[in-house]
Amino acid sequence: MNTHHPLIIEPIPAFKDNYIWALRRDTQLAIVDPGDAAPVFAYMQQRELTLTAILTTHHHADHVGGVAQLLAQHSVPVFGPKNEPIQVLTHAVSEGDELEIPQLDVRFRVIDVPGHTRAHIAYYGAGALFCGDTLFACGCGRLFEGTPAQMRTSLTKLRDLPDDTLVYCAHEYTLSNISFARMIDPNNAALIERERRDTGLRAANRPTLPSTLGEEKRTNPFLRWETPEIIQAAQQHLGAPAGSPDQVFAAIRDWKNRA
Ligand SMILES: [Zn+2]
Repeated sequence: MNTHHPLIIEPIPAFKDNYIWALRRDTQLAIVDPGDAAPVFAYMQQRELTLTAILTTHHHADHVGGVAQLLAQHSVPVFGPKNEPIQVLTHAVSEGDELEIPQLDVRFRVIDVPGHTRAHIAYYGAGALFCGDTLFACGCGRLFEGTPAQMRTSLTKLRDLPDDTLVYCAHEYTLSNISFARMIDPNNAALIERERRDTGLRAANRPTLPSTLGEEKRTNPFLRWETPEIIQAAQQHLGAPAGSPDQVFAAIRDWKNRA
């Protein structure tokens, strides 16, 4: 085991705005949500890496579409959610399961986070959270197969992780998410600072990720259903009082869908 080498986590850009996350230690590589095989092959060849594991968060093609092609070249374990239609899994996992990638000396805990899809999962370990299309930087995923209440419960589980957790989501949606957040939470100083910083990163063609959970808690309206500013915004969108956290969350999710 090459534990004297640091664990490196970096994005492999794919499609228009996806990130396939690469985890490597020395020459060993694991990847999260390979929607496309070609950029992964290129990344491996440039660095002479050996693929050891594939992790998937949910069944959408832009997250699993490259798995079969990668498996044709490399026989490795493929982890992913139980109860989603993914044919290529070797290890179907759900909340409470732990998985180990011995070649990288890392362990992950599986967290069920339904909402974007029916059985979406997240992986938490080594101070990192791989949350697919559930939590985004300053946003959250669309509700294709779940209810607002399910999604808010899922986001609550993620919000309960330590503030210094590094958040690795699967898309570069940050600036458009920040625009929406600024509209409904205009006086949030941490959000204003985040917009300034992340606008600079994108202007330099750099990723805005990972963020930290602490920053998400200060700036992401989809984790802030208890704050007066977000409740007020929800009521403005509804034109009526929002009585419960689920109603607040549902209202701002609906507003974002239409924005
Ligand atoms: Zn998705």
